Order: sequence, then structure tokens, then C-alpha cells
Amino acid sequence: MAVEAHAPATALTPPAPSPVVAASAAAGSIALDQVWHRFGNGSGDGWCLEDLSLGLEPGELLGLLGPSGCGKTTLLRLIAGFERPSRGRVLLDGREVAGPHHWLAPERRGVGMLFQDYALFPHLTAWQNACFGLARGSRSAIGHGSGQGHGFAQGHGSAQGQERVRWLLSLLGLDGLEQRYPHALSGGQRQRLALARALAPGPRVLLLDEPFSNLDGEVRLRLRRELPSLLRQCQTSAVLVTHDPQEALAVCDRIAVLSAGRLEQCAPAQELVSRPASAFVARFVMQANVLPARLQAGELQSAWGRWRPSGPGSNAPQERMPGGPLEVVLLGEALGLEADPQGTARVLGREFHGSHWQLDVEDRGSRLSLQVPLGSPLQPGQSCSLHLVRGGRGILFPGGLSVEVA
Ligand code: ATP
Repeated sequence: MAVEAHAPATALTPPAPSPVVAASAAAGSIALDQVWHRFGNGSGDGWCLEDLSLGLEPGELLGLLGPSGCGKTTLLRLIAGFERPSRGRVLLDGREVAGPHHWLAPERRGVGMLFQDYALFPHLTAWQNACFGLARGSRSAIGHGSGQGHGFAQGHGSAQGQERVRWLLSLLGLDGLEQRYPHALSGGQRQRLALARALAPGPRVLLLDEPFSNLDGEVRLRLRRELPSLLRQCQTSAVLVTHDPQEALAVCDRIAVLSAGRLEQCAPAQELVSRPASAFVARFVMQANVLPARLQAGELQSAWGRWRPSGPGSNAPQERMPGGPLEVVLLGEALGLEADPQGTARVLGREFHGSHWQLDVEDRGSRLSLQVPLGSPLQPGQSCSLHLVRGGRGILFPGGLSVEVA
């Protein structure tokens, strides 16, 4: 797919927003307060979301990260008002919009949504698509394709609304394409148009459900780089659902990591990487290697070597070392590997990464990913041995105690 020439998202000044938009511009906070959700009549399946509390400041871009089926889309649908929480409350701008006592309909929440499949109307031009939310006379862009039956006969919105659409199209590098139909736009242009349409009514909050997953690498990179600045200029808060940890780390102010409907951690990218709250977060966000360990005779042992506590709390390790199954998340180069016909480890596969090979290795029930130089003789199927590198660092879970190889 070709990469489109694109105007930088900086030089333009937004037109004065309409009074409706102005009233909502300073707003945009979201709070989920002890939200539980299950589908259907509550019998059978378990909770889809469990005891979830999460806050989003006005103007913030929050990433929502987690494996398939962990509840990311359901969380967006609860914020938008397409689902009612089974328990707990959803607040927008500090006001309860869903909870035991209040319910605000989706179209009155001022929340926009953008999906990976664009949901543009094929029979409308780019301009008409972008103005669609204005034509509906609502400042909400909610409704994945909803309102299709409204047609475009109601007009293109107010003059201010149209001015905003012109500003957005220009900001997104779509000027000159206003009269084109979606089929005559590239994938990147279509997704930009969908973004313009979602932002045109001036939503306080924009919910983005994997908006870039259908795009090719370079277009995807460019759009996701532009997103934070675009949202800032529109003074819109946003929640971005993604499967891709790199995407979340690259663009989001904070990232919430979900696992099976539970919030594992919500933190800025650097904190998530340097102080993961669980082995799950380290595995999912950094693809970190994790080794089982056990506490034996006061020492932290593993099949590959011994660990000792380091950093704060290391003088009172016993009290901080939990009982039960333990895991050490490896940081940096804590694991060494060499070819060894007698070794217990086996190379399962390897990927060429330009400057090195990435090996997939199995040893004593643990699956690990290791970098080796291009000249390494290790091939899939070969035996090898692994050892902990003296001074290598790790984090012990549960508890999060810093450890190093003894
Ligand atoms: P993915 O990344 O694959 O899109 P997700 O994290 O967005 O997944 P959800 O779509 O929120 O996950 O679904 C969470 C769980 O709720 C899944 O187990 C899913 O099967 C279930 N679920 C979603 N919608 C419904 C529904 N309408 N009725 C019953 N179960 C549902």
C-alpha cells in the first residue's frame, strides 16, 4: 500500500467551536468505579469484567491492552452506554451515567467511537461522511454504523460544524478528496476519514477499538504517531484498545493491562516496563522471559542457578519472600545460552531479525525467547544449555522484590 503525502498536523488553528462543543471542550474525564459485568441472565458464564476501577483525566490518551477475550471491547461498550454494568458505576465528567441510580442514553453521553473496519457509508462522499454526525444533529458520534437509515437529507450541520470538518480534513491531509467516495480512497485515507467523522461533532471522549489493525505497517505507524497531537488539538480524551503492546507503549499517556476481566496494572509506559505489577504484565507487555523458582533453605533457587535479593528490602529478604509458587521475570541479559549436545534445552525455532536471530527455546517446561548473534550455529531441533548470568537482574513475583543472580 502506498504511503500518502500528508500535511503536518500542526500549522492550522482550530475554528471557534460551536457553543455545544465549547461547553464540552474542557470536559472529558471518565471514571469506572468498581464495575462488574456479566452477559445474559447472570447464570452460567462467569464475570466478563471484575471489580474494575479506572480513571481517565481530561485530554488523556489511555491504552487498553490485554489478550483476546479479556474484556477490552466490553469496557468500551460500557463507557459508550451500549452495555449496562451489572454492578458499579460509570462516570463522565464526574457525573454518573450508568449505575444503580442513573442511566444516560448513549446518544446523550458525547462519546465517539472509531472501529477497525471504518464503517464509512459507501454511498456518501468523503465530505458527506465527515459531516454525518453533524447532519444527525447530535454532538455524539456514537453508533457503529447506526443511523444509516437517516440518509443525508437533513443537511450538513451548522456553518461552524462544517468549518470544523474542513479543519479536520485539512489536519488529516484529506483536502482535495472531499468529493471522492470511500471506494476511491486508500486504506489509510479511509481510516483518517473515519477519524475525522468521529471527531467532527466534538466528542468529549473518543473510544478507539483497534483502529489501526487493518492498516499496513507504514500507514499504521504514521497514523498512530499523529493521533496524540490530533486529540490534543481537538481537546478530546481517548481510550485506545489494542493487542499490540508496542503501539500502546508508543502513544498512550497511561496503559491499563487487563487479564481475564481484571485490571492487572494501570501506569505510564516507563513504569509498566520498569516496574511491572505481575509476571503476566511483564510477559504480555515486554514479552519478558519468566522462570519458575522456589525458596529452599532460605535461598531462592531455580533449575538454572540461584538468585539473591537486591535493592531496597534486600537486607530483610525472608520477610519479603512469599511462599507458594514463585516466578522470576528476567530483565535484560540475565540468561546465557550455548550449544551443548548433552543440554536439556532445545531450540524450537528461530526468526531472522536483521541484526540477530531470535530463538524460541524450551527447557524443563519453560518456553523462552533469546537473542543470539547472526553467526550463532544454533539451529531448530538442536540441543543446548541455558544458565543464569552472574549479576543478571530479575523481579520476583508475587511481591515484586528485585533480585539478582547469585
Ligand atoms: P478481542 O481482543 O478478541 O476483541 P476483547 O478483549 O475485546 O477481545 P470482549 O469482546 O470484551 O473481549 O469479550 C470479553 C468476553 O465476553 C469474551 O469471553 C466474549 O466471548 C464475551 N462476550 C462479549 N460479548 C458478549 C455477548 N454479547 N454475550 C455473551 N458474551 C459476550
